[in-house]
Amino acid sequence: MTQTVDELRATLSGPVLEPSSEGYDDARRLWNAQHDRRPAVIAQVRSAEDVQAAVRFGVAEGLEIAVRGGSHSMSGASSVDDGLMIDLSLLNQVTVDPETRRARVGGGAKLADLDAATQRYGLAVPAGMISHTGVGGLTLGGGMGWLTRQFGLSIDNLESVRIVTADGSILHADEDENPELFWAVRGGGGNFGVVTEFEFRLNEVGPMIQYGLQFWGLDQGADVLRMARELIPTLPTDLNVVIACLNAPPAPFVPTENHFQPGYGLVVVGFGTAEQHAEVLERIRTTLPPLFEFATPMPYVALQKSLDEPNRWGQYCYEKGSYLEDLTDGAIEVITEHVPRKNSPLSATLIYRLDRAYSAVPENATAFGGGRTDRYAIFMVAISPVPELQDAERAWVRSFWDALQSHTVGIGSYVNGMTEAEEDRIRAAYGDKYERLQLVKAKYDPDNVFHRNQNIKPAF
Ligand code: FAD
Repeated sequence: MTQTVDELRATLSGPVLEPSSEGYDDARRLWNAQHDRRPAVIAQVRSAEDVQAAVRFGVAEGLEIAVRGGSHSMSGASSVDDGLMIDLSLLNQVTVDPETRRARVGGGAKLADLDAATQRYGLAVPAGMISHTGVGGLTLGGGMGWLTRQFGLSIDNLESVRIVTADGSILHADEDENPELFWAVRGGGGNFGVVTEFEFRLNEVGPMIQYGLQFWGLDQGADVLRMARELIPTLPTDLNVVIACLNAPPAPFVPTENHFQPGYGLVVVGFGTAEQHAEVLERIRTTLPPLFEFATPMPYVALQKSLDEPNRWGQYCYEKGSYLEDLTDGAIEVITEHVPRKNSPLSATLIYRLDRAYSAVPENATAFGGGRTDRYAIFMVAISPVPELQDAERAWVRSFWDALQSHTVGIGSYVNGMTEAEEDRIRAAYGDKYERLQLVKAKYDPDNVFHRNQNIKPAF
């Protein structure tokens, strides 16, 4: 194969690495330390033409192909032992046209790249909450975060993609050109090819936003969740609340006796006026006085980085998620029973509200694997700084998830939050859309070249 790798190297404008190459170990590293894979070849592409050459090389050589965006897939899908990793990290340019309010984003850009470029003009794409996550994987599965109530999922703001398919074609897809492919990439993950460029519509956001954190102890969990159930759906669309069951940070605003103590936080983020935000904090404070709280205006880009550190690279992670129609008493009982049982101080349970702009998008407008009715997405995330804790944390997530099942909207969940390739859950997530996705897969990737993902099997 040496000869062929040399030929690929000569063709590509970006570097091609082998196990003996300098930089190989850095390039193969993934966010989740749980996965330690050694590709035979890593193609660090810089253009759609590079991706085209890499895909053709991988297929011709019979190599299993993994596509690496921001490397944050819990399952480690973006690397592969003995195969070809197409590493998009150098394909990270973002160009913004403030007049037309459009951004063109390289397939390997991080959320931090996207936010930095768009916020220069006070604009943003709704995306995730951790800035080192990849735009690629996040968008292809949906993309939810602080702005979802206001502007929908990332895919709801997607105008077009440039994509390299399994036969090496470079295609444009939008509502008019290759519309089925465009439908499928909005939620169907990396199943249909390598997206080298996303074109997004932009929305006015910030640059300053209002941030608030209020925190209660474990013993008040049921009261916090019941209050959140009454409060969150009534809030104006430009306010969002995430329920975070986690350990208090050793931050200056946290009383020393609460440092590292587990409990329930409400993170209240306002995109409107400071007065409106302060009123909501006051409403919460008078209903259920917190142990401590912190409120400040901050730049939107700082909000997007505020959870980066506890979610840093190199930890051992596992996750499962579900959708809840509501925070029913039954669901609250399960949550408050299981939250205290985690073993690692970094593990957390996060509950996102999905409504308003999210629910305004018709069910079949995109391939998104999740119903468009108002709901909560709940994620149980095990994060261990050392591998020794991971077995216990995985068991904690699984038992929590199992116990919650009778209170969820089926076994399907957000495909981006799945650690394991569970075919029944992937099918359940897409529901009636699965067969349509299989037809698109059969057209653009009949041999399932792109299968290191929440895989959709091609129709025969
Ligand atoms: P990768 O591992 O590089 O890729 C994930 C999958 O997408 C792989 O199958 C890969 O092959 C494919 N892929 C990536 N880029 C491309 C591309 N350009 N073309 C084709 N295929 C591609 N999700 C949310 O919606 N909101 C959040 O707030 C959020 N927060 C998160 C925080 C952390 C710390 C983590 C680990 C995950 C979070 N997620 C969130 C989930 C996240 O959306 C998924 O993990 C997503 O797959 C990450 O994309 P990536 O490009 O970083 O990962």
